[in-house]
Parts: sequence; C-alpha cells; structure tokens
Amino acid sequence: RFSTAAAAEELIIPPVQINYTQNLINGQFVDAVSGKTFPTYDPRTGEVIAHVAEGDAEDINRAVAAARKAFDEGPWPRMTAYERSRILLRFADLVEKHSDELAALETWNNGKPYEQAAKSELPLFIRLFHYYAGWADKIHGLTVPADGDYHVQTLHEPIGVAGQIIPWNFPLVMFAWKVGPALACGNTIVLKTAEQTPLTALFVAKLFHEAGLPPGVLNIVSGFGPTAGAALASHMDVDKLAFTGSTDTGKIVLELAARSNLKPVTLELGGKSPFIVCEDADVDKAVELAHFALFFNQGQCCCAGSRTYVHERVHDEFLEKAKARAVRRVVGDPFKKGVEQGPQIDTEQFEKVLRYIRAGIKSNATLECGGDRFGSKGYFIQPTVFSNVQDDMLIAQDEIFGPVQSIFKFKDLDEVIRRANATRYGLAAGVFTRNLDTANTLTRALRAGTVWINCFDVFDAAIPFGGYKMSGIGREKGIYSLNNYLQVKAVITPLKKAAW
Ligand code: NAD
Repeated sequence: RFSTAAAAEELIIPPVQINYTQNLINGQFVDAVSGKTFPTYDPRTGEVIAHVAEGDAEDINRAVAAARKAFDEGPWPRMTAYERSRILLRFADLVEKHSDELAALETWNNGKPYEQAAKSELPLFIRLFHYYAGWADKIHGLTVPADGDYHVQTLHEPIGVAGQIIPWNFPLVMFAWKVGPALACGNTIVLKTAEQTPLTALFVAKLFHEAGLPPGVLNIVSGFGPTAGAALASHMDVDKLAFTGSTDTGKIVLELAARSNLKPVTLELGGKSPFIVCEDADVDKAVELAHFALFFNQGQCCCAGSRTYVHERVHDEFLEKAKARAVRRVVGDPFKKGVEQGPQIDTEQFEKVLRYIRAGIKSNATLECGGDRFGSKGYFIQPTVFSNVQDDMLIAQDEIFGPVQSIFKFKDLDEVIRRANATRYGLAAGVFTRNLDTANTLTRALRAGTVWINCFDVFDAAIPFGGYKMSGIGREKGIYSLNNYLQVKAVITPLKKAAW
C-alpha cells in the first residue's frame, strides 16, 4: 500500500495498490514466457515500486495469436456496433469509478502532478471513450454513383489486428487515443506500453474485461522497445501499426513494418513547436501561456511550445516576467497540493535534459534561471529559462523534453514565419496576438498539425492531432482516427443483367 496516515495530511494520495504486473493475453494475466521481469520506478525517489513481466518476441507472438483468433473467430467484429458501443461506455463508467486510484497510480509511476492526472487526464480519458463509443454505430460506407448499370457501394470494415506502441509521458491518455478508435471500429489489439510506465494500462485493461470485452480483443504486453516493440512492428500477422514516441524510433518501426508485411503505419513523433508572442500581446497573459506551453507535464510533451519567439517591442518585459514566473513555479512532490512540477520520468531523461542545459550554456545562450537539478534525490530539475537563444544552437533545434524554456527575439512577421518553419518538425504552434489578421496570416503560414491561437494544449476527443514533416504520419482523435483502423471494400453489382 502506498499511502500512510502521516503522509496523507500533507499529501493527497488515495490509497492504491499495484495488483497487475503480468502481461494480459487472451483475457488472462500471465507471466512472461521467459519468466523474466523488470523493475518499474517511482521517479520521485528512483525507488523500485514493482517488478513487471518482461515480454519479448514470444509473448508478442502469443498476444498476436490471441488477437488474431479474437478477430477471425471471436464475437467482437461480428457483434452489433451498438453492443460494442455499450461495452466502451461501461468501461468508461468503470474507469470513472476508479479514477482516484488510477490517477494515483499514474502519478506514482510517472511523476506528474496528481491534481493534473486526476482533474485533467482521467476526465480526458473517459471523455474519449464516450466519444468513440458514440462513433461505433455510425461507421458505414457509401453508395457510389459510378458510370454504367452498376450498383456500387463501399463497406467500411475493421482492419484486423492492430499493433500499438505508446510512450511514457501520458500513459493513460496515449492508451485512450490508440485503443478507443481501434475498438470502436471492431478491431482487436496488441498494445505495448512504455517500459517506464507499464502499470496503469494493465489496470484499465482489467476494467475493460470487467466491462464485458471478450478475451483476446485487447492484449497488453509490457517490455522494451528493441525486443517486444520491434517484434510487434515486424509481426507478419499484425495488420496495422500505430506508434507514438521519438522520431528516431518512428523511423525504425516504419522500416520494420515495411520490411515485414507492409502494414500501414501511423506515427505521432517529436516536435519543436514555436510559440509566437506578437507585438500587440498582453504581456502578462502571454507570459503565463508561454510558461504553461513549455513547462506543462515537466516539459515532457511532444507538442511543448519549446521555441518562444517574442517580438522585440515586448521582448524585454516578457523576458523579465517569464523568468519571474519560472522562479515561482512550484516544484516538489507531485502528490502535494499546489505542486506544478514533479520529477522527470527517469535517470536517462534527467541526464539528457541536464546535458542540453550545459549545451545551452556552452553555446552562449544566457541562463536566466534554473540550470541544475532540484533537490538531491529523484529526477527533479529546476525550471530553466534561456534568453539570447539563436536558431542554430542545439537547444533551439533538438527536442529537449524537459523544463527548459528558450526565448528568441524577432522583428517582423515574415521573419518569424520563416524561422518558426525552419525545423524538421511540424507538430504544433502557438500564436499570441489580439490582431485577427496577424492570427490568420500566421495560421496559414505555419507548417504544423495544430495551431493554438491565444490558447495552448487544448485537447478534446474530437480534435485531430498529428504532425507535419518529421513529427509524424496521420492524425489521431476525432473522425480522422477512424480511417486508421478501417479498410474500404468496394462492392460492384450489375443492375440489369449479369455482366458476364
Ligand atoms: P521512444 O521512441 O524511445 O519510445 C516510445 C515507445 O517506443 C516505447 O514504448 C518504447 O519501448 C518503444 N520503442 C523503443 N525502441 C523501439 C524499437 N526499436 N522498436 C519498437 N518499439 C520501440 O521515445 P521516448 O524517448 O521513450 O519518448 C519520448 C519521445 O516520444 C519524445 O521524442 C516525444 O516527442 C515523443 N512523443 C510524441 C508524442 C506525439 O503524440 N507526437 C506523444 C508523446 C511522446
């Protein structure tokens, strides 16, 4: 058990137990075939909190065989869409019932503020399943007015066995984006969680079975990328692959998919998103939003506004206030009320972020605040702000994935458009202005899958998300995600007499 009476006074920890650590295959929790386990950690302290079954190629084979059978022979794709929808809704209700425990487990394994997990991510998760439950019985084909005496229709069929690989920064939300649309369309799934955060997916998968999901429809394998992940990406019996993670790994899985059975792949990858503060901006509001755009979730967001471009007219005021805001940021135990920033996920990310900070200092960007670890245990990093950042610096080009804000100065719109687009990524962009023409001009010109105007990180089940350029292929969420999980079959019937 996690909570103690003494801690509970100052910490907001609902009691939670780690009950599920085995792989979930064909509706059963099972050990890895090899018998191996790996430790999973509490990023606040670096202490081991559980040992989890370590799946590899053989576990993936078994999970894919279960998913294949459930697709080819099981009731799931043959049920009425309404019945599938009811199961998704029952599942969402069960998650709601266990929200506090799930949020606590998410924070325990990931380090994100409990209040964020409980008040934002669990509601988003539940809402997403409601949304896709609504789609389940509204997926259908078309009649097509083809030339000649033919009745032509399309059938929208589930694609089959979906392989899904997710990262650690939003373990539950990423699970929802992948699993919701795939199940609504009638597919079966093998999902590999990130090795850093295996726990909440196992918990919710258990709830799915309580909600009536047939065995084999959703299989969860914990394990590492080059073993379990690669086995899934290259499996000959997986019909579709959906991946979220880094661009480098995205390239690997795309190649594995191509070299095996040419399964279609959707990729949600990294970013280096510009946040543009125009000369007419209300500086106080711009500072707060730019701060949120970068520091949210310990800076571990693929769409983080990690290049803050500020117009020269407001730059100096913005910089002073942005620095003051970062200094005020409340870092600490993510279970404490009011804490805004917890630890980074693991020692690898922690070291990587500190390396980027050192690179920033070395390249003569001005370190305004932060720049080091916070405290002496766990993976906490001080909120860090750099000014005088130039476009060719490493910290301006690479995804840092940590609490490091880089502030750039610009003179006019054409210049900032050119500079904002001069990146290999294209996931998102933020624009802060009171001028509609400026907002429209920037929106059209920015090469990014999402543009937030005077807001940031607004997520909704109905809003598509995905990247231009090396930020990915395809869109998740909304109506767009359905196509990722459907095949279209054209059916042609002669109207008057047999064609042959
Ligand atoms: P990562 O690419 O190393 O890991 C992501 C997932 O891929 C994990 O489940 C991992 O086990 C698996 N994996 C790793 N190597 C693999 C291989 N050879 N074959 C198959 N699977 C493999 O990414 P990370 O560093 O753990 O996560 C952070 C990155 O993810 C960041 O770059 C971030 O931008 C990106 N990300 C993107 C989004 C998005 O929606 N675009 C969301 C979250 C994170």
